[in-house]
Amino acid sequence: MTEVFSGSFTQQEPIPEAGIEAAMRILQSGRLHRYNVAEGEDGETALLEQEFAASVGSKYCLAVASGGYAMATALRALGVKAGDKVLTNAFTLAPVPGAIASVGGVPLFVGVSRDLTIDLDDLQAKADQADVLMLSHMRGHMCDMDHLMEICDAAGIKVIEDCAHTMGAKWGDTYSGRHGVMGCYSCQTYKHINSGEGGLLVSDDDELMARAIMLSGSYMLFERHLAGPPKDAFAQIKYETPNVSGRMDHLRAAILRPQLADLETQVERWNERYVAVERGLADTPGLTVVQRHEKETYVGSSIQFLLEGWCDSAVSEAIARCAARGVELKWFGAAEPVAFTSRYDSWRYAPSEAMPVTDDILRGIVDMRIPLTFSVEDCALIARIIRAEVSAVYQSLDG
Ligand SMILES: *Cc1c(COP(=O)(O)O)cnc(C)c1O
Repeated sequence: MTEVFSGSFTQQEPIPEAGIEAAMRILQSGRLHRYNVAEGEDGETALLEQEFAASVGSKYCLAVASGGYAMATALRALGVKAGDKVLTNAFTLAPVPGAIASVGGVPLFVGVSRDLTIDLDDLQAKADQADVLMLSHMRGHMCDMDHLMEICDAAGIKVIEDCAHTMGAKWGDTYSGRHGVMGCYSCQTYKHINSGEGGLLVSDDDELMARAIMLSGSYMLFERHLAGPPKDAFAQIKYETPNVSGRMDHLRAAILRPQLADLETQVERWNERYVAVERGLADTPGLTVVQRHEKETYVGSSIQFLLEGWCDSAVSEAIARCAARGVELKWFGAAEPVAFTSRYDSWRYAPSEAMPVTDDILRGIVDMRIPLTFSVEDCALIARIIRAEVSAVYQSLDG
């Protein structure tokens, strides 16, 4: 009998009971705006910021409307202006070049390596062309962060980290988001904590964080931040910084706080599932599971493998055959952008030079979400299906 998987790749877990109860209290209070707090209250948003800063070991944290907003705010706080080039990954998702474009910046794409991280040789080669790198830890893969920081420090490049897929992940002992000057996280439904939409920005830098807080729309209420820089940091900045409203509200913060408290457990659950898929795919002919660096502590909320040297029609066939058995895979090589997946050369507002080595790698990248609503047994079944279908197509290929 042919096995079929019937789970949904877009089904997330419910919000924890404690989050639902906290959200109901906020709704009943009518006080949803982050600066609308009752006498003696800190408010859910300020508390979330304080707890998130503590969880990654940063001095400061700002909660905002989305991950994309966090990235744009980091760029603005760093003074990126119209026409400035900003280095970024060619292998990433649309909000990353989009954040750069939103401040008038010009994305300068850096290639991808076989481990799906930024190509450090290409970064070195382009290091004299920009002052800022928006580094995307795309699909949770972290490059050699020690080496990256060496290159960037030597070239005077400021690093902003896009940690949309690495909340809870580490390089060595350091949490992702803590290597560069600012770290950005997303709390959108498909990320590691879920408030529908939402973002977090962390930094140790007084000036950058004071600017970010003013930018987010704090008016002159910045002293209500529990994880913000001291009042002095705002002395000039409060007059000079435009308000580009993008605050987080208490409702989302209330939903997020219990999830943040559970994050470590969730990371373990993700990794059990990831390992089940990874094991099931090991030694499949024609398929290479992307390797993890030993200094990396990852969050296996998705998995990637390479079908290297396959022609486009064979990749499409393997994906179609898996889909017919209920397994949804995404292909980063497709010429036309589909759903969340697009290739750097499809962002036509950001012209790029051809990157043949990167294109070859992108052509083989297959990606799969691992929602926590899947059991470990589901993951083993999914791996059996992929293995069977990929093998069948591979065997039919000539040479
Ligand atoms: C989701 C995501 C973001 C930010 O997304 P928002 O939807 O704006 O919260 C940034 N980078 C990557 C790689 C993402 O997947």
